[in-house]
Amino acid sequence: MLFRSSKTGSQTMNRTPIAVGIDLGTTYSVIARLDNLGRPVTLVNAEGDKITPSVVFFDGANIVVGKEAAKALATDAPAVADCAKRDMGQRFYHKLLGGRQFPPEAIQALILDKLRRDAARMVGSVDQVVVTVPAYFDEVRRKATQDAGFMAGLKVLDIINEPTAAAIAFGFQEGFFDPQGAGSAKRNVLVYDLGGGTFDVTVMQIEGTHFRALATDGDVRLGGQDWDQRLVDYVAEEFIRTIGIDPREDPNTDGRLRRECEDAKRTLSTRLKTTIVCDYKGQSVKLEITRQKFQEMTQDLLDRTAFTTRQTLQAAGLTWQDVDRVLLTGGSTRMPAVSEMLRELSGKPPDTSVSPDEAVSHGAALLAGMLLSKQGGKRPTFEIKNVNSHSLGLVGVDPKTDRRRNVVMIPRNTVLPAAHKKVFRTQKPKQSSILMQIVEGESMSPDDCSQIGKCTVYPLPKNLPARTPIDVTFRYEENGRLAVMVSVAGKSLKHELVRDNTLTQEQLDSWRTFITSRPDAP
Ligand code: ADP
Ligand code: MG
Repeated sequence: MLFRSSKTGSQTMNRTPIAVGIDLGTTYSVIARLDNLGRPVTLVNAEGDKITPSVVFFDGANIVVGKEAAKALATDAPAVADCAKRDMGQRFYHKLLGGRQFPPEAIQALILDKLRRDAARMVGSVDQVVVTVPAYFDEVRRKATQDAGFMAGLKVLDIINEPTAAAIAFGFQEGFFDPQGAGSAKRNVLVYDLGGGTFDVTVMQIEGTHFRALATDGDVRLGGQDWDQRLVDYVAEEFIRTIGIDPREDPNTDGRLRRECEDAKRTLSTRLKTTIVCDYKGQSVKLEITRQKFQEMTQDLLDRTAFTTRQTLQAAGLTWQDVDRVLLTGGSTRMPAVSEMLRELSGKPPDTSVSPDEAVSHGAALLAGMLLSKQGGKRPTFEIKNVNSHSLGLVGVDPKTDRRRNVVMIPRNTVLPAAHKKVFRTQKPKQSSILMQIVEGESMSPDDCSQIGKCTVYPLPKNLPARTPIDVTFRYEENGRLAVMVSVAGKSLKHELVRDNTLTQEQLDSWRTFITSRPDAP
């Protein structure tokens, strides 16, 4: 090992960093790198698996992440955090863990930290990464994801929308990146991503190595777990009907039942019937369930995805005839009902050529590779154009009704980067500050939108006369993050974006130290 120190010289020191992509999923996370030939490969974790459950178990002083943590849902449910991604953007994870409140991004950071440590065993250190987010994530959740990367000791080169990443992996696999390959024909691809906790649909146009999102929509609270829940409730109701008690009342029994039901759901993807057993307080119920029955009791969930899919296609200005491929990603697209529904809607068989578990992380690794080589002065190998998934607005007061309302500045599905300038005028002479409340969402009512925070311009230059124009530019970056610029007469002004529900730099630093300096898991 001594030989590995600094003197191994040029090779180690000039080594280009490894391009790593991380799919930080609601239920499973995946890490991939580019190999020496620039092809994405998934890295297995310390347990030897390609996918790691996004679950964290606070076992006294120990923190366990992944498969073992997922098992603990059946024995120590109150100390286990799952689906923290669903809580991103909130101040705290929805339940206390070991008597403590955790910000959801800290839980996400613990998952990233495990992926980082496990990958480092195989490829040396991992520090620069691209992390994926659902296209439908709003700005606050995007920032929280970048913060999670920071807390895990990573440098987040960028975040990328999951469907875009899947489309890139698909394009790579189809040979669109190869100059002698498939060429630059224009193809419209609809990416349907149904994971464990989120649903995303995006219409992309791929022209050779140019990836352009045309429209995107989704639901951050719809995924495979809602299908599981239907089974859980079905079994629990049967238990109540026959025995008179509710097995869901005990968190561990609920956890076990949940696992049983998820298993049954997976079985029903390949078989026509299965049985679920539920034991509680010495009593037992055994239920047979057919695929058809399961499909009936979850039809409304599938319909919701169909509705959103149709709407997104319409927002992209396309019809099904214009769609060349329907690309499936996310574990839940293994349910046969998904393919059937999409075949019926689109009139063509959906494409299952990319791995539903790996495509997203592979696309992220390809982007990481591109960004790293760009840093090294090389020309980018592909290009991405995104749209924003939520409208950006400011809270104004309607002079007629005197009510607060959301004034949309950058409507959703605008090509990014997009900027909008608004001219504010000082009201009084010598005004010292301006305050703007920024929201994201489609509703007219600010309360139904996601609160990004307040932007204060302070101090304004001294002695400005009343009605001095102040230019405020809101800019969505390509990755959906917000930047604000303020100027008066062309001179930029100091301003501060005070965010709701995000951690301060000191808090981030202290989490980073805590998370990255934990002793290596055994
Ligand atoms: P996420 O991106 O939200 O982490 P994934 O894409 O990894 O999710 O998908 C996980 C979901 O896929 C889980 O709800 C899981 O139950 C479901 N899933 C995985 N395999 C199957 C299968 N064979 N049949 C039905 N659902 C499946
Ligand atoms: Mg996913």
